Amino acid sequence: HSQRSPSLSSSSSHHNKDNESGRVRLAVRLRPRSAEEVISDADFADCVELQPELKRLMLRKNNWSAESYKFDDVFTETASQRRVYEAVAKPVVESVLSGYNGTVMAYGQTGTGKTYTIGRMGKDDAAERGIMVRSLEDILSGTSSSSDVVEISYLQLYMESIQDLLAPEKVNIHINDDPKTGELSIHGATLVKLRDLDQFLELMRIGEANRHAANTKQNTESSRSHAILMVFVRRSVPQKSEDGIGVVPNLPRGNDLCKVRKSKMLIVDLAGSERIDKSGSQGHLLEEAKFINLSLTSLGKCINALAENSLHIPTRDSKLTRLLCDSFGGSARTSLIVTIGPSARHLPETSSTVMFGQRAMKIVNMVKLKEE
Ligand code: ADP
Repeated sequence: HSQRSPSLSSSSSHHNKDNESGRVRLAVRLRPRSAEEVISDADFADCVELQPELKRLMLRKNNWSAESYKFDDVFTETASQRRVYEAVAKPVVESVLSGYNGTVMAYGQTGTGKTYTIGRMGKDDAAERGIMVRSLEDILSGTSSSSDVVEISYLQLYMESIQDLLAPEKVNIHINDDPKTGELSIHGATLVKLRDLDQFLELMRIGEANRHAANTKQNTESSRSHAILMVFVRRSVPQKSEDGIGVVPNLPRGNDLCKVRKSKMLIVDLAGSERIDKSGSQGHLLEEAKFINLSLTSLGKCINALAENSLHIPTRDSKLTRLLCDSFGGSARTSLIVTIGPSARHLPETSSTVMFGQRAMKIVNMVKLKEE
């Protein structure tokens, strides 16, 4: 039985095509040809052509026809990590700092740059840092008051089981949702209060090592699981003055006239979207294929239902959609970046990735609904 949560909902009454911030923001990023592709695919023409100034992607289906798709942002293979962050994630970070939930997700076939875009740590070169590190950098500098709190959990979702990447020995981690408020919490997962960016980088390093160890133990690849960073932000903000217009000046933090704003940001590196061949798989691999298909299919179904303003959003079908349910759609701000490779060899996957994004773009979020 699915419930319509307060956030995971769409609204036709608030639909405003001019209000771009009100819907899922959609970007596409093209990965450069790999050294191997330069050699092996030398005879293949690229199947995509990007027209960043027109915010358009052309997908060449054959020699005679190409289809055109619109995006909010189109990043060529030379786009910097900073540019991608500023367009895709920074608006979500800003809205999280003002008290709204938000999600940034990367979707695409394995090997197209999801982890590069989302999780790159940039150990030796800060310019290489991906969306997770840059988001935390801005969240930490935006929460500098002593009463502000930033906490994180870092999870992996594999075959419908939630694993704690900061404490892999923990078992029985499950999702609790409060039926009254629709608020969601993760029972049993490690929650670390952040002091600074160095501590965050160290936690990410530990998380990545644990992810690698867990995947080796399970004999799987990281492309088969979703990595989910949850960031919880609590800020004291001055109340509005009695006339409701200005902010009460010089108000000490922690004062009665301050109120606490809570919000949450999810940064998600999704499992590879390539179709997993169930027919050729047996045993464990078949089970794995079913679960990955389940979570990405259920995400797709929720996206379709939201895009069509459906009354029934099937969030309960998978753990992934349950985790996302109060941070996606509704009053939350959402950015999706789809990643693609250039080679015509992967045209079917590239085309299905682009179509997934196009459906998500139809979702209208109600960013104005939350009480100020
Ligand atoms: P995915 O997470 O989708 O499986 P990865 O992020 O691991 O893919 O990327 C696959 C390879 O391509 C990696 O070696 C990565 O460094 C490289 N790569 C991906 N995107 C880019 C990019 N925009 N610029 C340079 N290298 C990239």
